[in-house]
Amino acid sequence: MKMTARNILTYLYANYLLMRGDVQKAVARLKNGQYILSIYFHDPSKPLFGKCMKWLNQQGIFFIDLKTLHEIALGNIPFPKGAVLLTVDDGWKTNKTNIVELAHQQNIPVTIFVTTEPVLVGNGYWWSYVKLANKSGYMSINPEQVKLMENKSRLEMLAKLKDRFCVGREAMTVDELQEIEKTGRVVIGSHTVTHPILPRCTDEEVYMEISHSKKQLEDILQHKINGFAYPNGDFSEREVNMVERAGYHLAFTTKPSYLTAENIKEKYMLPRFEVLKDVSFAENICRMSGVWFRKNNA
Ligand SMILES: [Zn+2]
Repeated sequence: MKMTARNILTYLYANYLLMRGDVQKAVARLKNGQYILSIYFHDPSKPLFGKCMKWLNQQGIFFIDLKTLHEIALGNIPFPKGAVLLTVDDGWKTNKTNIVELAHQQNIPVTIFVTTEPVLVGNGYWWSYVKLANKSGYMSINPEQVKLMENKSRLEMLAKLKDRFCVGREAMTVDELQEIEKTGRVVIGSHTVTHPILPRCTDEEVYMEISHSKKQLEDILQHKINGFAYPNGDFSEREVNMVERAGYHLAFTTKPSYLTAENIKEKYMLPRFEVLKDVSFAENICRMSGVWFRKNNA
């Protein structure tokens, strides 16, 4: 963990939650079938992902894949006791060694939601260009400010930045996507074409981002793409309807909640708990078990 004031305080608070038995109680409720744990990563280090899998395995849980979750949502499989679903956003190049290798070795199903443009073009994710432009003093708009821009303005700004700055490939290649699915434990889902903030897009842009990314991935992988994750977790009713119409089975938000027999019926608004890089492992245990977000689960 990075020794920042934030991380020291949250480390102390996480240990307090652990000592008080909150995590133990949350795991007991999971194993009683009160909920499924839906956990997601971005680009964890290999040791972090390994530690998370070790901790989860020690709790006596089992992992389910996206197809099983869909069957549970449809009511074709009874709501399970002790099930955990793992998803990963963006399609980072590092996922191959840091996540997929271990998932393959330990037979752990993982769904990776991929943004297609960085895969096909071989460049960086858009926020990397913005960060680089900031660092070099070229401009002083940070990624959070860019997220507030209309999508057209975001794309125009990025086109200029891409002419000026070189980020290099950050996503997996087409070959790597095909290769990691062959391990049998990885399923690829869509995370749009350009990772826009969907509510800042026009109807046409939303349609393109949601349906064209599906088609691109289906062409690459030669099978139906059934899962979707909203970039940055941002969506509105329009996006939910568009995702359903495009033919996806399930879609994930970043709302930090347990997946219950009730909210799993909202198949296009599924919640997830995020594991963070650079924070204490005690905090990540609290995050994975959901106790970190207690107020959201009341
Ligand atoms: Zn993302």
